[in-house]
Amino acid sequence: MKDKKKLTTASGRSYYENEDSLTVGPRGPVLLQDYYLQEKNAHFNRERIPERVVHAKGSGAFGTFTVTNDITKYTKAKLFSKVGNKCRVFVRFSTVGGEKGSADTERDPRGFAVKFYTEEGNWDLVGNNTPVFFIKDSKKFPDFIHTQKRDPKTNLKSPTMMWDYWSLNPESLHQVMILFSDRGTPDGYRHMNGYGSHTFSMINDKNERIWVKFHFKTRQGNKTLNAAQAEELKGKDPDYAQRDLVESIEKGNFPKWTLKIQVMTNEQAKTFKWNPFDITKVWPHAEYPLIEAGVMELNEVPKNYFANVEQAAFAPAHTVNGIGLSPDKMLQGRIFAYPDAHRYRLGANYEQIPVNRPVTEVSHHQRDGFMNVDGNGGDSPNYFPNSFDNIEADKSYKEPPLPLDSNIADIYDRNENDDDHYTQAGALFRVVMNDMEKQNTISNIVGGMSGITGPKRDEIIQRQLNHFYKADKELAEKIARGLGFNFKPD
Ligand code: NDP
Repeated sequence: MKDKKKLTTASGRSYYENEDSLTVGPRGPVLLQDYYLQEKNAHFNRERIPERVVHAKGSGAFGTFTVTNDITKYTKAKLFSKVGNKCRVFVRFSTVGGEKGSADTERDPRGFAVKFYTEEGNWDLVGNNTPVFFIKDSKKFPDFIHTQKRDPKTNLKSPTMMWDYWSLNPESLHQVMILFSDRGTPDGYRHMNGYGSHTFSMINDKNERIWVKFHFKTRQGNKTLNAAQAEELKGKDPDYAQRDLVESIEKGNFPKWTLKIQVMTNEQAKTFKWNPFDITKVWPHAEYPLIEAGVMELNEVPKNYFANVEQAAFAPAHTVNGIGLSPDKMLQGRIFAYPDAHRYRLGANYEQIPVNRPVTEVSHHQRDGFMNVDGNGGDSPNYFPNSFDNIEADKSYKEPPLPLDSNIADIYDRNENDDDHYTQAGALFRVVMNDMEKQNTISNIVGGMSGITGPKRDEIIQRQLNHFYKADKELAEKIARGLGFNFKPD
């Protein structure tokens, strides 16, 4: 065969044997000098990198984002400077709580992380398929995630831990309602929306800031699995969502999402009923309508899963000029947490891995560290200021200062609606859900809460039912009936 390739060691030496180890005579012991034997097995022992603590099971694809509407009055980001502008994207979908080999159809939020390779650097929108989240302060994140993982003694998933935590942390209610609706078990990754979830900002060419929420609306239509279908697929095809995504793209059936934004001025933010930077709340569409911005199409399955999907590293801190952050406490925590996780999982030079590398040139004075593979700045200076490299920190990229309402650091200075965990959760149930969705949500919650066991069972159920009751009386009463629990609101 003319295209035959010679087997080599990793250092490039041609090697003569790939299966039989070198021995002293045909039956003798193995010789240490069979270097390829050692290299092959030693590398195999090092194939696994630390699993992501959350979002471990995921699927990814490359694609294209195209700007379809003029939003230049809100942002000076070059990506959005002209209708028709395009950039390459990489998207990673995931479940949250399960391990790398867990089933794709678990009831769980789905990660929806998009990396836009723009000419001004990478912009990562690292959200979920839900517009809200369980907690509004990242200080709570390790506690919350522990409840979604395994019991320290039994090593089993524990509905008792989950509902104990949710009942003691009622700001989770809105997200719990979404999780236990059928949107908590989407039919693969193509049939779900994605949300930036946090409030972000945009800055225009007049240096004016506006607050923004991002929504990716699926063009395939929302499709969900009911509890029985999701349960069955866990056994039949644990990789259901991965299979669906890969097969659909390979067939040329490219999934698409419309990117829409909601915008809020600083004046509107001051009079908004809730804290606009609270990730447990949405901005009602009627007051803050969706504005189209672009369309995203996924059209390329990465040639190698580990190289691209496993090594993909997204960070909410990765914004571009014209797109900024906000005082959302959860977002502020994630600015630290994501790059920190990547430095642990992939090393200090994780941005040099091809899937993470920006398409634009990078110029800074960070050098050395494990796995430095991009030339390490060559012979250019590794200090600043210097007389040689002409790298300047361009002040025109500075964002306008953010006026603050208060200069007193006091976490307990709260607004009256900060503890309203109920209005939006109730609206979802009463106004948005049809009868079938209501029924399924109730039965999914009953199924979930039936797993609560142990001496605190009744206390946990009573506490959680009180939260449901404050959102909607009928909801709480029907769940109590389903559980056979004698509920009297406190
Ligand atoms: P609207 O009546 O204008 O829209 C309802 C929204 O809810 C739609 O975006 C719909 O998505 C989405 N939706 C439908 N079923 C579910 C579900 N089971 N879980 C999560 N989302 C669902 O809503 P409002 O803006 O007036 O808000 C009412 C409630 O709708 C909110 O309290 C919130 O729970 C929910 N919601 C609101 C969003 C927002 O940004 N305003 C975003 C998502 C949910 P689709 O159009 O794709 O079917």
